Amino acid sequence: MAVFDPLAELVAALQRLPGIGARSAQRLAYHILKTPREEVDAMCEAMRAVKDRVTYCSTCSTITESDPCAYCTSPDRDRRVICVVEQPESVAAVEKTRNFRGLYHVLMGAIAPLSGVGPDDLKIKSLLARVAADGPIKVEEVILATNPNVEGEATALYLARLLRPLGPRVTRIAMGVPVGSDLDYADEFTVGKAMDGRREM
Ligand SMILES: [Zn+2]
Repeated sequence: MAVFDPLAELVAALQRLPGIGARSAQRLAYHILKTPREEVDAMCEAMRAVKDRVTYCSTCSTITESDPCAYCTSPDRDRRVICVVEQPESVAAVEKTRNFRGLYHVLMGAIAPLSGVGPDDLKIKSLLARVAADGPIKVEEVILATNPNVEGEATALYLARLLRPLGPRVTRIAMGVPVGSDLDYADEFTVGKAMDGRREM
């Protein structure tokens, strides 16, 4: 009969997190064991609250507590510009620059054939629908801020081909962001420069 071993269960659960190998999982589990009860309770509560309250915007897929999100509903945002990013975390990276006032569209990944991620696995149809929509305000520019790595570049090229016939300017952020890196890890100065230096695709 299998006996429930709490420590082993915790190690196994931690090991399922991205970037956490067997050794790190073990170190973290022992650290949690030594951590005061209140701190662990607070951590569990934060995890539960994230699952209970935080969701994705049905329009732009950014993370939000209310749907549609604060960006999509804000009267202060420039609805003529959409910045396309791979992950919800990148929205925060672009926001930190404080000089982008448009809307967002999160793809929820990038095209990566080797990992089995194709265009249909991403929020591409909804992006095209937003750009093609016949509203009072037309989308005039789509900024492709996918990550500066092979998948991000391929995704930007793919999107540019689909977006251009719909009419807007299609621009790509400058490569001020270190090549091969993620937008979310770049500092706001670098992301700001990348946005400022964007060019026509
Ligand atoms: Zn939204």
